Amino acid sequence: MKIDKNLADYLIVGGGIVGLTIARQLRISKGKNANIVVLEKESAIGMHSSGRNSGVMHSGIYYPAQSLKAKVCGAGAREMVAWCKERDLPVLPLGKVLVPVREEDGPQIDLLLNRAQQNGVEASKIDAKQLSELEPEARSATGEAIWVPSTSVIDPKAVIKTLVSELESENINILTDAPFLSVDRENQEVSTPKGSIGYRHLINCAGLHADTVAHAFGAGRQYTLLPFKGLYWKLDEKSGIGIRHLIYPVPDLRVPFLGVHTTTSTDGAVYLGPTAVPAWGRENYRGLDGVQFRETGKILYHLSCQYIENKQGFRLLAYQEGRRYCKRWFAEAAQGILPRLKARHLLPCDKVGIRAQMLDTSKGELVTDFLIERGEQETHILNAISPAFTSAFPFARYLVDNYING
Ligand SMILES: Cc1cc2nc3c(=O)[nH]c(=O)nc-3n(C[C@H](O)[C@H](O)[C@H](O)COP(=O)(O)OP(=O)(O)OC[C@H]3O[C@@H](n4cnc5c(N)ncnc54)[C@H](O)[C@@H]3O)c2cc1C
Repeated sequence: MKIDKNLADYLIVGGGIVGLTIARQLRISKGKNANIVVLEKESAIGMHSSGRNSGVMHSGIYYPAQSLKAKVCGAGAREMVAWCKERDLPVLPLGKVLVPVREEDGPQIDLLLNRAQQNGVEASKIDAKQLSELEPEARSATGEAIWVPSTSVIDPKAVIKTLVSELESENINILTDAPFLSVDRENQEVSTPKGSIGYRHLINCAGLHADTVAHAFGAGRQYTLLPFKGLYWKLDEKSGIGIRHLIYPVPDLRVPFLGVHTTTSTDGAVYLGPTAVPAWGRENYRGLDGVQFRETGKILYHLSCQYIENKQGFRLLAYQEGRRYCKRWFAEAAQGILPRLKARHLLPCDKVGIRAQMLDTSKGELVTDFLIERGEQETHILNAISPAFTSAFPFARYLVDNYING
């Protein structure tokens, strides 16, 4: 389809969960006459993070109270679960246990429970006996664990598919095969292979390419993407390891990764992962796919700087995660939460995603919260990492209420 109307009131770049929920919120807030257009570079919706994640509706226990993540995550999980139920989309209300895998992770339990209280998340400390009743296969290095009953799993692909069809019936124009190529800022016009389109307000939701799009507007200069790949293995049903809930390690809160955990998908299959191993390109899902040598050089440069400076415990992270490319070391990480697991219980699977993780080059640190940069007629959403899927509906409301005028 060619671009027919050449002026969008709201032009959204990127048709992932963030772009789609913002389109929905704009329709609600600005009414039926607003011309809302979504540009998606792929031939289908949900080809990147939004169609490649664990589908866990996070409770909001991890995030410091003053963070944007804390503001939108818990409410987001409740809203997404209700939205799915209203549409008969699958929801698994599993609940989650968080276990320390090393003795020194023990004190994090109280810190996390404190955050849970501040963020209004129902969570409690359980002892070894309660843990073995709830989740007999799980292991805690200290005996104690955290139980979060509200955590659920949804089917992200089903959510995206349903959302797209609802938005289309609301007269929102979702154009596929329509990458943002460049912008003429003076005339507020974007070019795509399907033609040019003007905008009154542009919202950049380009995920793994959000920094590149922002840079074309002179925004977000100090941020650059550092892609981290999330690989999963499937738990062999014949392993004899029965998993009742979601099992997560108590994470290293300095970095925005949660550690190797179990994820049960809505069809009942159990996966272990995702890793956070460096990827060699923004869309380097397999082998050398998506590798562009100039970009890989830039990624290697930034990884080396992070390694040398060792902020946020980066050396340990690089060492632990780098090894997880190898099945044996991945299995070792998974044994931290599931001691009976053997490497032979892990089956290869094609589940893989890449996090749109931003590095703040001015501080030399991985960004941990969501980031929003406002230009004159543009808003850029950077670092829409986990839990952006969980948080999507209230995040979209927050963004439209606070950043988008006229
Ligand atoms: C392995 C993994 C597991 C995760 N697990 C969870 C979880 O359990 N729970 C949770 O809440 N979150 C999870 N997340 C995070 C979550 O998936 C993302 O935060 C969320 O999907 C981000 O949505 P998005 O719309 O910003 O990005 P995307 O889904 O990547 O969408 C961005 C879109 O922009 C398009 N685009 C890019 N450049 C252009 C351009 N130039 N022109 C036009 N279009 C463009 C892309 O093709 C893409 O479709 C996980 C992420 C990963 C990688």
